[in-house]
Amino acid sequence: MGNRCRSATSEADGVVILDYVHTTLPFFRLPRGLDERTIVELNNLLTVVRVIPETEKHLEILKGISANNSADEIDFWRSPRAVGHPVDTSLSPKVFDHYHNTLRMHGLRPEVTIRDVQKLINTSDEMNTHALKFHPAQDNFNYGAYHNLHEVTEWMYNLARRYSDMVTIVNISQSFEKRPIVGLKISSGKGNAEKPNFFIEGGIHAREWISPATVIYMTGQMLSQYKIRKKISDIVDKFNWYILPVFNVDGYEYTWTHDRTWRKTRSKHPGSVCIGVDPNRNWNWQWGNVGSSNLPCSNTYRGPKAFSEVEVKGVANFMKKVRMKAFIDFHSYSQRWMSPWGYTEHLPNDYNDQVSMF
Ligand SMILES: [Zn+2]
Repeated sequence: MGNRCRSATSEADGVVILDYVHTTLPFFRLPRGLDERTIVELNNLLTVVRVIPETEKHLEILKGISANNSADEIDFWRSPRAVGHPVDTSLSPKVFDHYHNTLRMHGLRPEVTIRDVQKLINTSDEMNTHALKFHPAQDNFNYGAYHNLHEVTEWMYNLARRYSDMVTIVNISQSFEKRPIVGLKISSGKGNAEKPNFFIEGGIHAREWISPATVIYMTGQMLSQYKIRKKISDIVDKFNWYILPVFNVDGYEYTWTHDRTWRKTRSKHPGSVCIGVDPNRNWNWQWGNVGSSNLPCSNTYRGPKAFSEVEVKGVANFMKKVRMKAFIDFHSYSQRWMSPWGYTEHLPNDYNDQVSMF
């Protein structure tokens, strides 16, 4: 766990068919109207502040702060989108007072929703260690805990052995730091070549641990409940499933070894003083459009060009080769089901079909 801790995420994601966003952190609320002592205290912690823009002017101010935030001292977990919609930011130590005052000066009413993120991360780590130690594993794997990259990889190879008639390992690509990007294919019964292909992906943003955990749990259910629960059998039989639990393997590893709040890849590009690109702003589709930053130190940095990230290029090539019928990308936090595309508010043609699945 690194001392420098930042956050867990914001969404305005690019290439997503359906983007399920899950919350991982509980909220601790403080009363409005903070006294001097509290402000000094909060200025030394990593806090999360929520503010709801009540006018177009408020929204403009928040969008301005977001666009000019080159070093991500103010990290937008939930970006400014519309009047009445909450905007959540984590604030690195020393900027609380400034941000808080700026917002209040413009008539906004910020509230502290998480007082000490690092403390929460420490508690979460302890709970995970406890879960790993005491909760019995299903098929020697504990679906009730977070796992590092090595354990996730082992789990995939174990599944390929255990369910050898249905599961195969898929080598998708390689990361900037030369880690393999590995997924699973689940395919049951006959006529596999004619079945549509469905791609599920997690962990494109490194710190969103609940995303790989969700994909892993779903995969476990698809296999352990196959031929037991009809609904699951039907879903499994209908498609060839391509499942990539950890997309951003370098970033994910880094969250376990150095900085729990790392979000981007770990690539280095000439001329940039900061490491990494937001892989979900790096697809070659409407690259550079809204919701991404051209500032290399930003957490939403889009990269020097589309597909500058070998991971993104590699996964895109794989998907093109296999020809996917459907694609779901899992993120945190928020509870949202996002339809394509992230850069526009126009609804897709099959929007009603998507909604009918809920
Ligand atoms: Zn994300």
